[in-house]
Amino acid sequence: MIKTDIIIIGAGPVGLFTVFEAGLLKLKCHLIDSLPIPGGQCAEIYPKKPIYDIPGFPSILAGDLVDNLMLQIEPFKPGFTLGEAAVSIEKQEDDSFIVTTIKDTQHAAPVVIIAGGLGVFQPRKPPISNIEDFEDKGVEYIIKDPELYRGKKCVIAGGGDSALDWSIFLAEKKIAKEVVLVHRSSSFRGHLDSVQKVIDLAEKGAIKLVTEAEVTGLNGSSSLESVTIAHQRDGEMIETADHFIPLFGLKPTLGPIGDWGLEIVKNAIKVDTLDYSTNIPGVYAVGDVNTYTNKLKLILCGFHEGTLAVQSAFARIHPDKKNILKYTTVNGVKGF
Ligand SMILES: Cc1cc2nc3c(=O)[nH]c(=O)nc-3n(C[C@H](O)[C@H](O)[C@H](O)COP(=O)(O)OP(=O)(O)OC[C@H]3O[C@@H](n4cnc5c(N)ncnc54)[C@H](O)[C@@H]3O)c2cc1C
Repeated sequence: MIKTDIIIIGAGPVGLFTVFEAGLLKLKCHLIDSLPIPGGQCAEIYPKKPIYDIPGFPSILAGDLVDNLMLQIEPFKPGFTLGEAAVSIEKQEDDSFIVTTIKDTQHAAPVVIIAGGLGVFQPRKPPISNIEDFEDKGVEYIIKDPELYRGKKCVIAGGGDSALDWSIFLAEKKIAKEVVLVHRSSSFRGHLDSVQKVIDLAEKGAIKLVTEAEVTGLNGSSSLESVTIAHQRDGEMIETADHFIPLFGLKPTLGPIGDWGLEIVKNAIKVDTLDYSTNIPGVYAVGDVNTYTNKLKLILCGFHEGTLAVQSAFARIHPDKKNILKYTTVNGVKGF
């Protein structure tokens, strides 16, 4: 059981900054995210896009914002449970909560702050009838640990940045024994320099590039042994494979949060703007996941919401202590 002061569900920009504001009040946080890396939409959807409305930064790449937030919260040593969706929340007799993930990791705290953004990102799966039979038996939709692919033959499918970047990474670092990239078109949607790099690696024989083709079948007894590729001109062929990794992007759904007894309005959690509390005392919702009159789904609004939520959380955790606002310029950042 992981014990902390505040469990934060969602390690997007808002969840991360909430750790900082909680840290200033000497409240310890543990973040849970279904994605294997922190950063939420900034890391998953648009890491290389510049954002122009973060106060004090005329322009900052979304990925750099996440890196900066991680640096900013370092003194407060937050805990992380990554790659696991929070699936249940249970109120205890002492009014504290236990949050359990899909892998049964349990977390206990007197306060829960939901910073779940658009919800859990679900992979877009290709329409292959038996694909679910091979999940975790050779089929993965997210690369969590590249070491899983060391010395293996990997068939990657997709035409966006994710498919291109991982093909390059696994081939260039010589992690995979063989990389086959299958894409249904002859042009790619990813960054031009990544496309060029894949073409260069294909010319050197480090990547086998199969375009105008789709993986249509998976074959194997107890685990994946080969894939069937349907080529638009040349018809079907069988390619041996240890892993099939379709990288067609992720789509968010509110997921389990919708079943926790919270007041949900249009797929978002209704909060009181006094302190961003929900209808369950001790549970707050900040960032894109919440809704109220005049809500704007912007990072800077989420930062403000997290700041007010932890002030209220402090009063709940330490009802007998007075909290006096201290400027960081005066007080500094005193980590744990
Ligand atoms: C293309 C694009 C461009 C944008 N440009 C801007 C911009 O210029 N300026 C701006 O201010 N905003 C911009 N936004 C919006 C901005 O990205 C969001 O407002 C911001 O990401 C919200 O942060 P968040 O932390 O609330 O949620 P998110 O970033 O969505 O993070 C939520 C996290 O919660 C996790 N999660 C959800 N449910 C669970 C669960 N049950 N268990 C575990 N984890 C869970 C998710 O995996 C996710 O990582 C843009 C968005 C997009 C898509």
